[in-house]
Amino acid sequence: RFVSLEGGEGAGKTTVLNALREALLQDGREVVSTREPGGTPLAEQIRELLLNVPVGGPGQERPAHEKPAAETELLLMFAARAQHVRETILPALERGAWVISDRFTDSSYAYQGGGRGLDIAFIAELERRVVGLQPGLTLLLDLGVAQGRERTRGRDLAFGNGPDRIERERDDFFENVRRAFLARARAEPERVRVVDASQPAREVAADAVAILRMFIAR
Ligand code: C5P
Ligand code: MG
Repeated sequence: RFVSLEGGEGAGKTTVLNALREALLQDGREVVSTREPGGTPLAEQIRELLLNVPVGGPGQERPAHEKPAAETELLLMFAARAQHVRETILPALERGAWVISDRFTDSSYAYQGGGRGLDIAFIAELERRVVGLQPGLTLLLDLGVAQGRERTRGRDLAFGNGPDRIERERDDFFENVRRAFLARARAEPERVRVVDASQPAREVAADAVAILRMFIAR
């Protein structure tokens, strides 16, 4: 009953998450929707550290951005995930709810592994020791890098967030992230299902709901 959504910037994860949530609620199921990094108060604080959201909000001067070392980023992601799993995901699953997470461990393989070049075996070891569970179904919203950049232009500034990845990183970073996500899908085709996110949002959501229905009926 644990579903994760993965994909690059601008892939439409938020729209899909809402559609999946609606589909499950219509079936009368309890749904907990959550996100990473984040999903508990402490993990959300780690998110703020990582994404460098300025204190004081939109319009105020933001502190100089110190780019986290790749290892710092990896360990903070897993610190947030450790808390998220124990405080939010496992309790929800234990009481019979469905859990939909906007990103999960596959994002660490993609961003910290593929994007930042950290050792995949080390990430796998952290996953084994710190996380210890996988989604039953992962929807990978796959989108070309240029199209993702186009869709998210201006988004972060509009919401008063700090400089997001989409502005900080170059295209080759995102190409590596995308490749790493697709490698996850090739390695675990049963769990990780690829959805063509270049389609209009409504069609992406419809595809995702259809895959979820098949997963429920399996
Ligand atoms: O899900 P969303 O696109 O809002 O992600 C928030 C930010 O965190 C993005 O900039 C994403 O690139 C970054 N991220 C990351 N490594 C992860 C998860 C998210 O760099 N493991
Ligand atoms: Mg989003």
